[in-house]
Amino acid sequence: NSLQTDQIRSAVDAVVAEVEVIESFGKVIDHIAELSDLQINRFGICVVTADGDVVTGGEADHPFPIQSISKVFALTMALEAHGDDVWKRVGREPSGDPFNSIIDLERMKGVPRNPFINAGALVVVDMLLDREKPRHEDVAAFLAEHIGSDEFDVDPEIFDKEAKGGYTNRALANLAKSFDNFHHEVDDVLKVYVRQCAIALTCRQLALAGRYLMLAPPGGRKKTSIEEAHRVRRINSLMLTCGQYDGAGDFAYRVGLPAKSGVGGGILAVVPHVASIAVWSPGLDDNGNSLLGTIALERLSERLGWSVFGNL
Ligand code: GLN
Repeated sequence: NSLQTDQIRSAVDAVVAEVEVIESFGKVIDHIAELSDLQINRFGICVVTADGDVVTGGEADHPFPIQSISKVFALTMALEAHGDDVWKRVGREPSGDPFNSIIDLERMKGVPRNPFINAGALVVVDMLLDREKPRHEDVAAFLAEHIGSDEFDVDPEIFDKEAKGGYTNRALANLAKSFDNFHHEVDDVLKVYVRQCAIALTCRQLALAGRYLMLAPPGGRKKTSIEEAHRVRRINSLMLTCGQYDGAGDFAYRVGLPAKSGVGGGILAVVPHVASIAVWSPGLDDNGNSLLGTIALERLSERLGWSVFGNL
């Protein structure tokens, strides 16, 4: 156990040192964030093990908007509340299109391909507003419970920008509503969605929030209910196939772990039964996934032999 954590420590240190010397590249999504080139290279990482050990590197305590990573928590809440009924309103197939693409929604008669593209996430938020007695008020409340602290904020600038703009998201929501796959007012859903995207967490907080996705090690002290284990396995499968949008195949090939990215530069990755990992670096690739974050996860999983496709 402590040997394992020592190994993680040295792997994280090595990855931080490697990432530091990689030249600035990638871009930021300008309708969402205005970051200077200088900031593109910033980097943070946190690994939380199944035993609760926390290993950090770089700017692990710098908060960033979690953006689409919030879709994982919203989906978890929707599955807890509605069970398999969720799948009547959203699919489970990778889309092969960009995260905010609208092109498929008409063809699918208002049923989004999966819960991690924007269209799907909006329908999931619509479902969350349906609940009579929510176990959690919203994603922020879910996060506070899972992190064990509510010391985080909604980034006001990001919230404002996306609340005022967000025309594509509005179009997606309206199209879904025109097919009767939206029960609430578009503006009400948009507001909740934009707020959850603008929640700013540090890598440390995000990795803590993701602990439930690794599941307790089999045969260990901590037990997970069968129901929760099923739910988490299915969420992980969706993260693997849909978590990085049209970059999901490449990410699975290179990193081999279920993960979810956000355009704020964060990625949450899961090593089932072993670790919850959060990385952050604002420079994005063409699919809107963190460039350095992906490289860091690729190198970390390589060094530690972490992959859901088999051990080295
Ligand atoms: N708030 C962003 C949007 O709706 C989230 C997208 C993302 O992180 N991929 O466009």
